[in-house]
Amino acid sequence: MPVIVWFRQDLRLADNPALAAAVATGEEIVPLYILDPGTPLGGASRWWLHGSLAALASGLERCGAPLVLRRGQAADLLPGLIGETKARSVFWNRCYEPAAIARDKALKTALVAQGVEAKSFNASLLAEPWDVRTGSGGPYKVFTPFWRSLSARAPFPSPLPAPKKLRGAARIGSDDLAAWSLLPTKPDWAGGLRAAWKPGETEAARRLSHFLDTCAARYAQARDLPGLEATSRLSPHLHFGEISPRQIWAAADARAHAVPRAASGIASFLREVAWREFSHHLIYHWPGMVERAWKPEFDDFPWTDDPASLAAWQKGCTGYPIVDAGMRELWATGYMHNRVRMIAASFLVKDLLIDWRRGAEWFEDTLVDADLANNRAGWQWVAGSGADAAPYFRVFNPVTQGQKFDPAGDYVRRHVPELARLDNRFIHRPWEAPPAMLSEAGIVLGQTYPKPIVDHARARERALAAFADIRKS
Ligand code: FAD
Repeated sequence: MPVIVWFRQDLRLADNPALAAAVATGEEIVPLYILDPGTPLGGASRWWLHGSLAALASGLERCGAPLVLRRGQAADLLPGLIGETKARSVFWNRCYEPAAIARDKALKTALVAQGVEAKSFNASLLAEPWDVRTGSGGPYKVFTPFWRSLSARAPFPSPLPAPKKLRGAARIGSDDLAAWSLLPTKPDWAGGLRAAWKPGETEAARRLSHFLDTCAARYAQARDLPGLEATSRLSPHLHFGEISPRQIWAAADARAHAVPRAASGIASFLREVAWREFSHHLIYHWPGMVERAWKPEFDDFPWTDDPASLAAWQKGCTGYPIVDAGMRELWATGYMHNRVRMIAASFLVKDLLIDWRRGAEWFEDTLVDADLANNRAGWQWVAGSGADAAPYFRVFNPVTQGQKFDPAGDYVRRHVPELARLDNRFIHRPWEAPPAMLSEAGIVLGQTYPKPIVDHARARERALAAFADIRKS
């Protein structure tokens, strides 16, 4: 009796507990992916998903169990496929977003009622959100004690090897991946994404080894410098489940033992990986934070409705070079460096007083690593409304942040080429450059590059006044 393995955010063969459990039954395996048109998926995520499914499909085909693609709602599709294949079991790896939890709970009940075995596994977290608990038994609200508690659980279970051979079922009808039209065509805007990324499990493993070989030792010092490629760039691979945090932990830990001088960089890297765990912990225990402020007083924040400024931010035309460089990096490559995500998000929420949800939505449309838990937690952290968030009154200054973290302006020059020839001293504040210097660099403010759309000092005062108001009320 075949086992259906329903792939979701675990698009890999190695360290895939649902797949391994299906193999262990000795039965035929039907690997399945369902595209639900009702689930929001940004443009960059659609592009990634296409590549990731193509890579998974070829890996499964090589092992002897071709991937079955179906489009629709799982609750409508699964009973039909179970009838078609005579499957007696459906296995999957758990997701932690509120809508996915609701779907999976209902499905499990329905399948069990039909006499079908439904089993779920943990493939994407080091520890389940309900297992990491404070001394009093509740969920964590602060990262550092969460991290202490999580890291005390190490060693984590060793990653499972990829199966070499799978017992596939007789050919089952599948959609054609190309017919899902996940790739942009008119226009094809994905050239920058293709140049920067390669979805799939093989590339995820390559990126991890490359990072451990070349960047891990100096990660703690270099991770905040967007002009360098000093971080792992594993985030989209992690989001789509092409690599697991257990695989990352095991490889990083082994490297730290083998190369002691890399150990402190690796410890700092694993702490960042744990921020992803913390975001998932939060979204699991406080599902309302997807839409509402985690700190309820922020629900009354007096956000402004300012479509022109929102558009300037989205296009990278705010007149603040570090913000614009970040927004243009995002548009061109589907990625933005973490330090710049914080600066650009702070600019939207505090300098422009635009609701963090508008920013989160834009990121979810344009990031290849768009991840509901990490993104909503990241935005709420910056907005000051999240768990263990930056205090609201700490407003990032885009000029001093640029000077500190991109001192030679390499990052700005790369993404805002119209400023490339500007002297270092003014690269983060072109409006203060002497006219002769601007002209020598070929810059006409307001024409070749925008003047600042707000005055940061005044915007900061306005933000602090708005914050004082909600505190009073
Ligand atoms: P590395 O520095 O190499 O870190 C390794 C891994 O740890 C990352 O791949 C990621 O999975 C995890 N990680 C690192 N930093 C964080 C963090 N602050 N929060 C949660 N996980 C972290 N990350 C996403 O994966 N998806 C998002 O949609 C997302 N949106 C964000 C929005 C805002 C406003 C902010 C401030 C941060 C957001 N992040 C998001 C977190 C972080 O910016 C990215 O995970 C990181 O930049 C990815 O680059 P990397 O893989 O090279 O990270």
